[in-house]
Amino acid sequence: MSQCIYCQEKAGFLKKTCAQCKEMLEIIQSLGAQFSFRELLDALMASSASNEKIQKFLDTDAHGQGSIRDNITARMTNQLAHTMGQHTDMSPQKVKTIRELEKKNPTPNDLPGDINPYRR
Ligand SMILES: [Zn+2]
Repeated sequence: MSQCIYCQEKAGFLKKTCAQCKEMLEIIQSLGAQFSFRELLDALMASSASNEKIQKFLDTDAHGQGSIRDNITARMTNQLAHTMGQHTDMSPQKVKTIRELEKKNPTPNDLPGDINPYRR
């Protein structure tokens, strides 16, 4: 038995994704190019996967090119900038990098303590 590349659960013989993650991938494809994160979550929650599994599915970087959540964030950032007439080339990899940097180096407003020179 091989493991699912998204949730690491049993996927079945010679399969890369388990039935539920496959179902979720199909849901994402069926939504097309224009959907909000809320719509995506609603659609995924209507699947047979548990909430925990949905979160894991969205956060797993199965192909080393950013997780599904990173891909969606990048796409939405580009759409928003485009709407405002700005050019961006946000990619899932950049979202992933920013997310990982933020984890290591929280932005000043996230730092604990009363005295914060960055806070006005
Ligand atoms: Zn899976």
